[in-house]
Amino acid sequence: MTMTLPYQEPLVPREPGERQIPEPPRRGEPGGPPCGICSGKTTKAVWSDDKWTLHPPVGGSLPGAVWLASREHVDSFSDLPEPLAVDFGRVAGRVEKAMLTALDDVARVHLYRWGDGGSHFHVWFLPRPLGMLVATGMMLPLWEDVLPNVPDEELESAAKRIAAAM
Ligand SMILES: [Zn+2]
Repeated sequence: MTMTLPYQEPLVPREPGERQIPEPPRRGEPGGPPCGICSGKTTKAVWSDDKWTLHPPVGGSLPGAVWLASREHVDSFSDLPEPLAVDFGRVAGRVEKAMLTALDDVARVHLYRWGDGGSHFHVWFLPRPLGMLVATGMMLPLWEDVLPNVPDEELESAAKRIAAAM
């Protein structure tokens, strides 16, 4: 078994559509909606220190998925002040280790940073289930989207187990 789309084939390719330039402002950008992270509209942090906060998602299918945000409102890696940029590797390693310790049957921890929705630095950590080789590589977020969601309480309780292992 190898990485596989979570859809029956054949899939039909489609055109990407017209480009929208300039792009609409993201959350937390001038002209856009307020930043959800700065305005506290996200899930409550299950873990934090003086630089970072760690949150469970809502409406997800993978218990143990979490996202890490900077306390400071900056956009991407290139905007992080140097001490934060340096510290990211340390804290990302701690999150990864905590996930591998606190969750059962995780083969690998995937990290994703898109930045297309909001302009506040945050990185997703997704646990790739042990043995689920169809979900290797770029397929995991697609499988995450297609698999049935679990209750938000389950996502929160898995995130709290990770927090306890930090
Ligand atoms: Zn913000």
